[in-house]
Amino acid sequence: MSEYLSSLLAEVKARNPGEPEFHQAVHEVTESLGPVLDRHPEYRHAKILERMVEPERVVLFRVPWVDDRGEVQVNRGFRIEMNSAIGPYKGGLRFHPSVNLSILKFLAFEQVFKNALTTLPMGGGKGGSDFDPKGKSDNEVMSFCQSFMSELCRHIGANTDVPAGDIGVGGREIGYLFGQYKRLRNEFSGVLTGKGLGWGGSLIRPEATGYGCVYFAAEMLATRGDSLAGKVCLVSGSGNVAQYTVEKLLELGARPVTFSDSSGHVYDEAGFDRDKLAFVMELKNARRGRIHDYVERYPDAVYVPAEPSLDHNPVWGHPAHCAFPCATQNEINQADARRLLDAGVQLVAEGANMPSTEGAVELFVDAGILYAPGKAANAGGVATSGLEMAQNSMRYSWTREEVDGRLRLIMSGIHAICVETAERFGAPGNYVKGANIAGFLKVANAMMDQGIV
Ligand code: NAP
Repeated sequence: MSEYLSSLLAEVKARNPGEPEFHQAVHEVTESLGPVLDRHPEYRHAKILERMVEPERVVLFRVPWVDDRGEVQVNRGFRIEMNSAIGPYKGGLRFHPSVNLSILKFLAFEQVFKNALTTLPMGGGKGGSDFDPKGKSDNEVMSFCQSFMSELCRHIGANTDVPAGDIGVGGREIGYLFGQYKRLRNEFSGVLTGKGLGWGGSLIRPEATGYGCVYFAAEMLATRGDSLAGKVCLVSGSGNVAQYTVEKLLELGARPVTFSDSSGHVYDEAGFDRDKLAFVMELKNARRGRIHDYVERYPDAVYVPAEPSLDHNPVWGHPAHCAFPCATQNEINQADARRLLDAGVQLVAEGANMPSTEGAVELFVDAGILYAPGKAANAGGVATSGLEMAQNSMRYSWTREEVDGRLRLIMSGIHAICVETAERFGAPGNYVKGANIAGFLKVANAMMDQGIV
């Protein structure tokens, strides 16, 4: 890495102490940018990268609410408005006890590049709270969402900042958030995406991240004359992204064999089918239960509880051709990556954001397997949010086939630009460099046009 980039990274660490996930995300991107900055000294002179690592705005606020026992609870709310060079801030809200500034800044930073890759006019943002929806009643979730939106509504808008869901924020939460926004602002607008189908949502939005990730994987395999048919696939998580990844894998003839949650994972060697997937969807989306219940219904499957003291994640220990991490950041470390490679995994497509540690990424890239970073592979979710915004602006809805067709085109376009850019900058087949450089160029050029802002 050049002296310029190393000192920029040192500066980012010094100015943002105690934010390891943010440092990691910035490091991963800047590592790719050497050749671009050599070819374009104007970006250095205009301090494009120095501006990109500084959020345009960070909002941090108190979220007081009353639980079912009448006790006052206090959570913390955040919105990171990272970059608006190519469109309104866009990115999900995460409700999880681990949420802090570091995690949201890493997610917002990644989002800027991801959104640029979709070719749609969306800047990057992210937000959320350390509120944990797990174990809360619907009434408590509503109470929290209303308090959260009472402050957030001052900062967002259909042309300013358009949040969506992420971990812990699904259709139920988006509904409560939208209801409160509408009540406070007296306007029915496309201020959030992931809305219900009856009130401004888009067909295929719930499916989009998982479907898009599998479309991207299929594109990668096609470059080697291969397909997903018959491939054994490890999938982590059992939430929105994991469920629809499995659904599309089944449709394309693959054999997904694992689901997980933070308590453990299930391994069903025979593979899931539509009935088993329907059981998991009902378990997770309606009953809000735990994945271990799967083995009570399907006793041939094995349940392995999570063991935090281990130096590896057992979900990655089963023999497979492909891996789809769809749970959370840093869920594949170097030891996991080594085990996946030793077991002969040929493809890793990231449904989650930054699920692989830097050491794991290095191993995948050095091994020359098909490795797609989240900012490319999981961009289908935000792309379809962009399509939801377009439909809201037109006050019109496209059919399922229309939205799915556009999603496919967008994923294939992202794949093509990653391949083309990686080649142009001397790293053929390297999707990390392709995605980082292509995303950077689009945002950097817009920033150059718009002056020092
Ligand atoms: P979700 O529906 O809330 O599901 C998250 C899943 O991951 C759950 O099974 C959860 O288990 C598991 N998980 C969360 N934190 C974990 C942890 N610390 N350790 C182990 N397991 C954990 O969320 P999602 O929307 O599917 O998001 C999953 C990933 O995809 C995230 O990285 C998100 O940023 C990324 N992503 C989502 C979208 C989207 O459209 N939703 C788009 C792009 C990227 P528990 O229930 O036990 O917590």
